[in-house]
Amino acid sequence: HYENENLRRNGERVWIAWTNQPQRDRDGQMRELLCVGRDITALHRTRVALQRANQDLERRVAERTQLLVQANARLEYLAFYDPLTGLSNRISLLAHLQLVLDTARCYQNTANCNGGAPPAFALYSIRLDGFNKVKYSLGHDVADELIRASAQRLQEAIGPKQLLARLGTGAFGLLAEELETPTQACQIAETLRELMSTSFELNGSHVSNTVSIGLAMGGNPQLAPPGYDRPDDFLRAADTAMTLAKHRGGDRVVVFEPQMHQQAVDRLHLEAGLRRAVDADELRVHYQPIVSLADSTLVGFEALVRWQHPQRGWLPPNQFIPTAEESGAIHAVGAWVLAAAGRQLQRWQQCFPQIQSSISVNVSGMQLLAPQFLDRVDEILAQTNILPGSLKLEITESVLVDAADLVAQRLQQLKARGIQIALDDFGTGYSSLSYLHRLPIDIIKIDRSFVNGTAANGSTWKLVETTIALAHHLDMQTIAEGIETPHQLAKLQALGCEGGQGYFFSKPIPAEEAENWLRSPLSGYHTPSGE
Ligand code: C2E
Ligand code: MG
Ligand code: MG
Repeated sequence: HYENENLRRNGERVWIAWTNQPQRDRDGQMRELLCVGRDITALHRTRVALQRANQDLERRVAERTQLLVQANARLEYLAFYDPLTGLSNRISLLAHLQLVLDTARCYQNTANCNGGAPPAFALYSIRLDGFNKVKYSLGHDVADELIRASAQRLQEAIGPKQLLARLGTGAFGLLAEELETPTQACQIAETLRELMSTSFELNGSHVSNTVSIGLAMGGNPQLAPPGYDRPDDFLRAADTAMTLAKHRGGDRVVVFEPQMHQQAVDRLHLEAGLRRAVDADELRVHYQPIVSLADSTLVGFEALVRWQHPQRGWLPPNQFIPTAEESGAIHAVGAWVLAAAGRQLQRWQQCFPQIQSSISVNVSGMQLLAPQFLDRVDEILAQTNILPGSLKLEITESVLVDAADLVAQRLQQLKARGIQIALDDFGTGYSSLSYLHRLPIDIIKIDRSFVNGTAANGSTWKLVETTIALAHHLDMQTIAEGIETPHQLAKLQALGCEGGQGYFFSKPIPAEEAENWLRSPLSGYHTPSGE
C-alpha cells in the first residue's frame, strides 16, 4: 500500500506512501506509516530500512518473550521452592498441610468413611541452634553451605510420607503424615535431633550444629490442640515449642502444649518491656565481692544485673538475659551494664585510691561477637579513664565452641587493651580442653555446681583439683564460685585456688553497700547481708 498515490508539487516528483488503516505490529503496537520521498529510489530505500527495522524488532520481541517465559518459570519455582536448598518452601508446606487437614476433616464428617480414626500427622519446626554465630564467625558463604548441608542431611533421613521444607534462614519445617502414635511422632524428632548433633566439616572447619525441634500433632481430635484447625495454627504451635526448646539450651525436642502459647505471649511482653527497660532506667547492677582465698581480702567485684520490672518486681538475670539474647536486646542491656560498671569503677578508684579495685562484667556470646562491641569498650575506657587492667570480662565456654576463631581474635583485641578475661561457669559447658591453651584467658571460674551443688561430692572435688592444676599449668588463675560454707572454703584453700566468691562472704549487694568492703576490705568485718 505504500505507493498508491503520487503527486507533483512545484514541478518536482514527490512520492507519498501511506496507509489508511493503521498497521498493527507483532508486538501489538499501532503504527501508521507515512513516507515521503523525492523519488522512487528514496522510497524504496525507506521501505528496505523499514523492513530491516521490523526484523530487528521481531528478533528483539522473540528474545524478550523467551526471557519472560524463563522468568515466569523461575517465579513459579520460587513461589513454591527454596532456591538455596531446592526444598519446598513455607507456602508449599502450608498448602500440603491444608490438604492433610481437609482429609482429616473428611474422615471426621463422613460417618461411614471406614469408621476408623483419621490418620495422625505431626508438624515439626526445626531450627539450627548456632546459626547466627556461624554467620558472624565464618561468613555468609559458610552459613549458606551449612544450610545446604543440613537440608541434605535431613532430606536423606526422612521417609516417603514426609515433606521437608525450608522456612527461614536457619529454619526447616517437616510434615509427617500417617503416624500411628504420638510416640512415633516424638521418635522422628529424636532421630533428627540426634542426626544433626554430629558436626559438619565446612571449608575445613568443624561446625557444631545442633538443632532445636518443636512439634505439634494433629489430624486426630485427641491429639490436636483444641481450636487448632488452620495450617498456620499448627505452624505457630510448632514454632512456639521450638522456641522453648531453644530457650532450654537447644539440642532438644519439645512437644507443643496449649499453655505454651500463653508463655510465648508472656515472653513477647518481656521482650518489649526489656527494650524499654534501658531507657526507662529500670536496670540496676549489684556487686558481689570476690576475695583472695589466701587472706580473705577483697580483690574485686562481679557486676550482676537486675531488672526492677514495673509489674513483676525485681527479676534476676536468668529470667531475662536469655530473652535478651534471643531478641537482640542483649546489645543494649550489655552496653548499659558495661557503662554502669565502668562509671562505678571510676568512682571507686577515685574515692578509694588505696584499694586496687576491679570489676568483672559478664559478656554474652552474641555481645562479644557483635562488630560494635570493641567500640563500646573503647568508649567506656576513654570516658571513665579507669585502668584497663581493672576491668575484667567474663565469657562462657559455649561461645568458644561455636565461634572459636572469631572469639580468639576478639579476646586478643581485648587483651591488647589490657583487659583481663575470665572463663565463666567452667565445667558446665562443652569443656573442650583443646581451645584453652589457644586463648588468652587469665582466669578460670569454677562453676558453683562443683563447689556447693548436690553433685559436689568426693569425685567432684577431684575434678576441682584437676581444674586448678590445669589452670596453673596454663598460667591461669582460678576463682571458685558459690562458696557457702567454711568447709568449702577450707577445701579450696587447700587446693590452692586463688580467689572465691559466694554467700559465705557476701551476696551480690548494691553499690553503696559494696563501699563498706572498700572502706575495710577484710571480709571478716562484714556480716553477710545483701539480697
Ligand atoms: P554468673 O556470672 O555465674 O554469676 C554468678 C551467679 O551465682 C550470680 O547469680 C550470683 O548471685 C550467684 N551466686 C553467687 N554466690 C552464690 C552462692 O554462694 N550460692 C548460690 N546459690 N549462688 C551464688 P545471678 O546474679 O542470678 O546471675 C546469674 C547469671 O546471669 C550470671 O551467672 C551470669 O551468667 C548472668 N548475668 C548476670 N549479669 C549479667 C550481665 O550483665 N550480662 C550477661 N550477659 N549475663 C549476666
Ligand atoms: Mg559471671
Ligand atoms: Mg558463673
